[in-house]
Amino acid sequence: MAKLSVRELDVHGKRVLLRVDFNVPVEEKDGKQVITDDTRIRESLPTINLLRERGAKLIIMAHFGRPKGKPNPKYSLRAVADYLHTIINHPVAFSHDVIGAVPEEIISHMKPGGVTLLENVRFHAEEEANDDGFSRELAKLGDIYVNDAFGAAHRAHASTAGVAKYVSQAAMGLLMEKELKYLVDELANPARPFVVILGGAKVSTKITVIKSLMEKADTLLIGGAMAYTFSKAEGIETGKSLVESDKLDLAREILDLAKQKGVKFLLPVDALITQEFKAGATTRTTSDRAIDEGWEGVDIGPKSIEIFKKEIESAGTVLWNGPVGVFEIADFAKGTRALAETIAQSKAKSIVGGGDSVTAVKQFGLADKMTFISTGGGASLELLEGRELPGVAALTSK
Ligand code: AMP
Repeated sequence: MAKLSVRELDVHGKRVLLRVDFNVPVEEKDGKQVITDDTRIRESLPTINLLRERGAKLIIMAHFGRPKGKPNPKYSLRAVADYLHTIINHPVAFSHDVIGAVPEEIISHMKPGGVTLLENVRFHAEEEANDDGFSRELAKLGDIYVNDAFGAAHRAHASTAGVAKYVSQAAMGLLMEKELKYLVDELANPARPFVVILGGAKVSTKITVIKSLMEKADTLLIGGAMAYTFSKAEGIETGKSLVESDKLDLAREILDLAKQKGVKFLLPVDALITQEFKAGATTRTTSDRAIDEGWEGVDIGPKSIEIFKKEIESAGTVLWNGPVGVFEIADFAKGTRALAETIAQSKAKSIVGGGDSVTAVKQFGLADKMTFISTGGGASLELLEGRELPGVAALTSK
């Protein structure tokens, strides 16, 4: 059901409790925390700017790392508050308590356009427990709630879901709206042929996604170590490749399902193999799907690259989740790179659905050539599985 958008709110002079995903990677340098990738903070800016321009008093909530329900200076959001101050060029008050008298006092002095960041909501065990009392305490700090934390929307926590019950209006932010537009709306009625590329390490983590996408896609291209579980299920040698031996029945079930549905389900026809899983190792290309004893598959082979490229070139929509090889090691990245370049050049609408394929696309410098890149790993996977996210379900319906 369509949810209320932040664009539709009257926020002037009101306290808006905004949940964002500020869970950025940091490194310690000279005893100080330094943010190494600020993508998530920047992705929240359209919503932050919109609310400030419209005169909201902005109270921002976020989590950071895994402090396990206890205050821990290592996971403080103070450095993020300072960083936000510099990029929005406006002071950001920091409340070292998440709930209670400290934030209430700070907020009581706020002016329209002002910004307060609350300390890490996960300093309270009640956050992840989606505790009702804690949700009410959070809700006391605002009049309206906006959720823009797509990366955490698959979690039913107090600040991502519970709090919505205790405010007058709960709306999605601009990032959340954009993620849902591409991962749900666009894929409900995709330009055809709709080609899905699935890779990564394991079949088990992608099983529901494969089944769900089989209902919508015309073609599925399978790469990564996942492909070897299918090989093994079909009685083909896999050497010492990563295989989930307890998922062979599942692999057979998927192969049968593809036949039943008349979906093109393409597995790699060759592989790049190595005896040593490291940069600079000797590699060989197989002539077919079989991988010799003592060798392991680390990428799709040249014939597979050509076949997959042809499918991408004729696609209307391409959805990509998971690298087709161990792209982190340059010698094993050729397949993933070739597919990324083909997608970048194709006219198809291209959606990169979270996780490691996003890292790969960025590493190749092709991010701006994609129609849409999701910011959420787990959340995007759950959407592609056809599930409703708790952080979205909790919002006000239109
Ligand atoms: P996932 O999180 O399931 O999407 O898996 C991503 C990971 O799969 C990446 O770190 C890749 O290095 C890894 N991967 C892809 N292909 C292979 C392979 N052939 N053997 C081992 N790992 C692989």
